[in-house]
Amino acid sequence: MYKFSTILSLVLMIISCTNKKVPDIAPLAQSAPAVRTVTTPQKIPEEKVKVSPDYDTTQWTELYRLDSSIIILMKYATTDNFVKEKMYPCSRCFLRPEVAQQIVKIQKELQEKGYGLKMLDCFRPKPIQQQLWDKVPDARYVTPPKKGSMHNRGLAVDLTLVDSNGHECNMGTPYDYFGEKAYPAYANLPDSVLSLRKLLSSTMTRHGFKAIRTEWWHFYYSGTSYPISSMVWACK
Ligand SMILES: [Zn+2]
Repeated sequence: MYKFSTILSLVLMIISCTNKKVPDIAPLAQSAPAVRTVTTPQKIPEEKVKVSPDYDTTQWTELYRLDSSIIILMKYATTDNFVKEKMYPCSRCFLRPEVAQQIVKIQKELQEKGYGLKMLDCFRPKPIQQQLWDKVPDARYVTPPKKGSMHNRGLAVDLTLVDSNGHECNMGTPYDYFGEKAYPAYANLPDSVLSLRKLLSSTMTRHGFKAIRTEWWHFYYSGTSYPISSMVWACK
């Protein structure tokens, strides 16, 4: 039999994702016509059309091609990141093929529990690592490009949990929060947040990923190795 505290914790986990405001989704039109008389076919948004890959598929997998239910919002393709500047030309999530396959398995497992993944960063090209370093030449925040990070190898992901409606869950801190509160071992947080962090990390580690000491959102895949890459993706 479940303990009351376990049930309460589950309820809090669910509430902590659903009450979030989602500012990046445009409101629906207020006055839709009662009868649709449009005869021209609806144009499918260009980004949803699966065109032939424009990259080396022996080296890379673009995640949405494997599972389009995973939300992709690369923070460095926006100004909502710690350097407050758009660093990527557009939001595309590339990973090494083995890594992408594991992410899809994780997504399926989370979906069975009413959750899903939102990707905040995937492969980060070496030239962009250099640009980040030029802005913030401090190894506490940016890996020196010569050393290169697991993101530069296509082996690391930054991600968070969403509920079944795609609303981001409250994980205790925003992405790229620098401080103890973002440490996976930091325990002075509501039970709902601790449970969500545990759900994310236990699912990731069961599929070959490793966590790091300072960021609840960062995981790297330890099952393979690849060199640093300078591949920069094209934008339509
Ligand atoms: Zn990361």
